[in-house]
Amino acid sequence: MSSTWHILGAGSLGSLWACRLARAGKAVRLILRDGQRLQAYQQAGGLTLVEQDHARMYAIPAETAEGDGPIHRLLLACKAYDAAPAVARLAPRLAADAEIVLLQNGLGSQDEVADQAPLARCIFASSTEGAFSESDWRVRFAGQGFNWLGDPGYPGVPQWFDDLHAAGIPAQWSVDILTRLWRKLALNCAINPLTVLHDCQNGGLLGHLDEIDSLCAELGELLRQCGQPKAADDLGEEVQRVILATAANYSSMYQDVRAGRRTEVHYLLGHACRAAERHGMALPQLEHLHQRLVDNLRARGLPCA
Ligand code: NAP
Repeated sequence: MSSTWHILGAGSLGSLWACRLARAGKAVRLILRDGQRLQAYQQAGGLTLVEQDHARMYAIPAETAEGDGPIHRLLLACKAYDAAPAVARLAPRLAADAEIVLLQNGLGSQDEVADQAPLARCIFASSTEGAFSESDWRVRFAGQGFNWLGDPGYPGVPQWFDDLHAAGIPAQWSVDILTRLWRKLALNCAINPLTVLHDCQNGGLLGHLDEIDSLCAELGELLRQCGQPKAADDLGEEVQRVILATAANYSSMYQDVRAGRRTEVHYLLGHACRAAERHGMALPQLEHLHQRLVDNLRARGLPCA
């Protein structure tokens, strides 16, 4: 099997992973959106990673989805709403033994990807690392964190897993990756939409703890109904801890809305509401929150799905 890491999406996380893997001597190829982006990248000469104010450029080879050669290992580093269409374009190049690592936040996009690549092994990731693009092809590593990877369908650790340690990417194989993703989704549902609706930093939610408590009660019910009781344990306490620890931060959804960017709401609060509906559950606080958020996004001219 080829040991090349094909990385789709040279945005924040994709660049962070690509530069670290390339620095460790691993074979990396970027897959960019189209010929125009490829030309712009080639003119720039590579990806620049900024860490603690030290910038270094990595001349990582790049191509478009229409490039040659089979893909055995794909790191999908685009937003959740771009994931399935991106994989559909790559499907003709996916080898029979292809493995796809999915970095998308939230839930729902993983199943959409699996539908496009039914023979590939899909490995889900949950990341607490932080990175943002300072400009095209230049990414700042903004927050140390950790990565959990796992495959809900098969517990075996992939043969390439040690590449991550060699590249200094903090990671652990997780047999309960779905629990982690559901827990992160629940934390996001309890915090991010309210920061948009109340137009505040995370700490501003300390003035809305009653609202958060009732949301956490409904989210806990939903998690248990979805077969994720561990993800429901002490959810309200953790939400409060996160709000306090990140009081001065603006949530990712707040930042997306402020910058006029599409949010991943469909795969976060939207996914929670669809799951509740599938289980025939009435969760009025959660549904009301979703409706208010959708109205807010619509009023700003942003997609609400
Ligand atoms: P991002 O900076 O917006 O990067 C996404 C990249 O995907 C963009 O460069 C975009 O290309 C590219 N892309 C989209 N469709 C493509 C296609 N069909 N072919 C090639 N490239 C394509 O997003 P991000 O912040 O890295 O986030 C990626 C995922 O990680 C999200 O689900 C996010 O929630 C999650 N996450 C991010 C962080 C973080 O700190 N950034 C932390 C944890 C989790 P263009 O530049 O051409 O538009």
